[in-house]
Amino acid sequence: MAASSNEETGDYKLLFRHDLCLACAKCITVCPEKCLKLERILELDKMDRPAVVLFEDSMARCRECGSFIGPRALVDGLQLKLGAMGDSLTSMLELCPACKMKVQFGPGRDAREPVNQPD
Ligand code: SF4
Repeated sequence: MAASSNEETGDYKLLFRHDLCLACAKCITVCPEKCLKLERILELDKMDRPAVVLFEDSMARCRECGSFIGPRALVDGLQLKLGAMGDSLTSMLELCPACKMKVQFGPGRDAREPVNQPD
C-alpha cells in the first residue's frame, strides 16, 4: 500500500498495488481501526493493473488558523465518539495545538471557564 497526497488541498488517497503486495499482513497488524482484511488469493490478471484507490479523504483544517490538523475521517470519527460519550469539548478537535492554547489560555480567558462552543 502507498499514500498519495496533494500538499495544497490536503486531499489524499490510500492506494493498493497487487503486484507489490507480499501478503505479509503487517498492514492488518498496524491498522488502529482494524478495517483491513487479508485474503490470500492469487489473481494474476490484476498484477499489471494500476494502483487501486482503497480510500480517499481530505485533511481537516484548524477552524482558527487554517493549518492542517489531521485526516478529516479521523477528526469526524473522534467527534462522534466523544459526542456519544457526552464530551462537551468536541469542537476543540477542530483546532490545531497552538490555537487550542490561545482559545483556552489566551488573553481574557480564564482557564477554569468552559470553552465557548460554536453554534
Ligand atoms: S500485506 Fe504486507 S505487503 Fe501487502 S499491503 Fe499489507 S503490509 Fe503491504
